[in-house]
Formats: sequence, C-alpha cells, structure tokens
Amino acid sequence: MAPTVGPALARALVDLGLSPLVDEPMSRHGFWRIGGPADVWVEVPDLASLRAVMALGAPVTVVGNGSNLLVADQGIRGVALRLAGSLRDARLDPQGARVGGGMMNSVLLARLQRAGRGGLASLAGVPGTVGGAVRMNAGTALGEVGAVVREVTVVLPGGAVAVLPAEALGFAYRHATLPPGAVVAEVALTLQDDPEAVAREQAEIDHHLARRKATQPLDQPSCGSVFRNPQGDAAGRLIEAAGLKGASRGGARISDKHANFIVNTGGATAMDTWALVRLARDTVWRRFGVRLEPEVHAVGDWPDGCWPLPEPT
Ligand SMILES: Cc1cc2nc3c(=O)[nH]c(=O)nc-3n(C[C@H](O)[C@H](O)[C@H](O)COP(=O)(O)OP(=O)(O)OC[C@H]3O[C@@H](n4cnc5c(N)ncnc54)[C@H](O)[C@@H]3O)c2cc1C
Repeated sequence: MAPTVGPALARALVDLGLSPLVDEPMSRHGFWRIGGPADVWVEVPDLASLRAVMALGAPVTVVGNGSNLLVADQGIRGVALRLAGSLRDARLDPQGARVGGGMMNSVLLARLQRAGRGGLASLAGVPGTVGGAVRMNAGTALGEVGAVVREVTVVLPGGAVAVLPAEALGFAYRHATLPPGAVVAEVALTLQDDPEAVAREQAEIDHHLARRKATQPLDQPSCGSVFRNPQGDAAGRLIEAAGLKGASRGGARISDKHANFIVNTGGATAMDTWALVRLARDTVWRRFGVRLEPEVHAVGDWPDGCWPLPEPT
C-alpha cells in the first residue's frame, strides 16, 4: 500500500536517498506566499529519483516555481515535489536544446543570450520553470512556448517514462494536454540561430520587459494574470470596467495597477483570494455577460465546492 501519511511517506523518501521535509509551509514556495503545509516536500535531483518517487503510489503535486499556483489554506496531502539537480540543466545542440523541466525560464534565456541563440522570446518575463511553461503553454504577446516544443519526456504515475511529440500535447491558449499526473522531466526545443533574427528578438524582449514593468505590479506577491483573456478582450479591462480595482478581502486585493492581478498585501489566505476571484467573475458576468475562466491552478486540500468555480451569478 502506498504510504500516504507524512512521516511514513518521509521515511519512504529517505529510503530513496532523498531529504524530505514534513509539514512544509507551501507559503514558502509560491509567488503568492499563500498556502498551508504539504504533508511532505521533497526536491528530486534526477530522472531515476523522480521515477522512484512516482512509483511509491502516493499523491504527487508538482511545483515548478509556484508562479501560477494557488495553494489551499489546508495545504497539500501527499508529496509536493520540485525538480532539482540534473532536472534543472540544459544541453544545447545543433537541433536546439534539451532542457530539464525544473530549469528556470530566466536562466535558460540568459544562457541562450550568451550562446547567441534565440527562439524563446515567448518566455521572457514569465517567472516560472520550463516544465511549468509547457504545462501552461505559457506565453506573452511575443508568442507561446508550445510553438517551439519538439517533444517532451514525462514520468507517469507508477514511474514509467514516455516521450510525447509536440503534436500529442494539443497546445492551445494557456493549455497543454498532458497525461493525468504526468511530470515533465525534459523538453526538447527548437532554437533560432540566425544572428540577425536573434538580435531582432532581443530588442523585442527588451521592449516587452520594459512595458511589463510599467503596467504590472511586479513589486508585490501575485501569480500574474488570474483569469485567461476571453476571446477578443482582456480580463483586466473587464474587471477594471466593473469598478473592481482596489477591491479587497482580508489581505488580498485586486491590483490598482493591473486589474487581472490579485496581490497579497500581507497575510492573505487562499480563501481571501478565492473570494476575490469569485467577486471578479460574478461581477463581470452580471455587468458584461462575459464568463471569465481562471488561469491560475488551484492545488491542495480545498473545501468542497470551491473548484471548479461555481457558476457565475
Ligand atoms: C509576475 C508574474 C507574471 C506572469 N506573467 C505571465 C505571462 O506573461 N505569461 C504566462 O503565460 N504566464 C505568466 N505568469 C504565470 C506563470 O509564471 C506561468 O504560468 C508559468 O508558466 C508557471 O510556471 P511555474 O514553473 O511557476 O509553474 P507552477 O506555478 O509551479 O505550476 C503551474 C502548473 O504547472 C504544473 N507543473 C509545474 N511544473 C511541472 C512539471 N515539471 N511537470 C508537470 N506539471 C508541472 C503545476 O502542477 C501546476 O499545475 C506570470 C506570473 C507572475 C507571478
């Protein structure tokens, strides 16, 4: 039987040579600084260890850089894991790059810049990992990561490894179809090598980053855009037009700078944030008849009925 209680799970992970932490506050591991304890938190240094953890049969929640996660106040049951060690490396080759799922986008971009290579403008300013980017099909006005993914190596619940070509991942706006519970261990990417195209791309990135700094509350804890943009419109525009900039619940507040951001002004709980998510969704529905869908991922042990969000009223 799978060990599911913290200390038993921790012992099983120690037996695998790992260094788990029991009852680790998830507020330490997410951009929002919100969330109760994970039964067990563990960093996994290589593919073999990742397979062994997945083979334990305990529930697993994979945390990239926690930049798009809303963790429940009651925390996470089972294992919360982060990819580390060789799962954060990249190898550049003539075809492109093979990148560990745990590598930070910013580290990869800096490495490409040093090597005079490009193709990943879509991830500039996205403060997550490459695995999280694939899971979310992250992107900006400069494109989506799915456009440059060649194939993805995943570890499945039970520990089997599968290599999935990009066509199998059904990339769409902020969406990829991965097998249930799959952890992205490695991503093969196509890169741009033409020096003129790379220089042009770098200029676009610089312009894009300056614009973000001017329009987004990057100095406060948030998870970026809370809602996906509805077809032909912007969620932030709708929330602002509904008069909700500055609305707050507990320590959570709809940003005065960008209405699709909820910021933690200090001590916000997951339920404070959830209440604002509902307020924005219900108000925009009532005022404009537009149904906003969340972009952030809610994980952990939420009270019944919170997610999926109730129908807007
Ligand atoms: C200030 C700010 C600005 C942002 N701007 C943008 C933007 O412009 N564009 C954009 O797309 N996003 C943006 N985001 C949101 C976020 O950065 C992206 O969604 C990012 O891709 C999430 O990556 P992560 O590694 O932090 O994943 P997490 O937030 O840790 O996880 C997100 C989801 O991916 C899953 N996941 C993570 N790693 C893996 C893995 N290796 N294998 C399988 N599943 C995995 C998690 O379980 C979860 O379901 C922004 C966030 C912030 C805080």
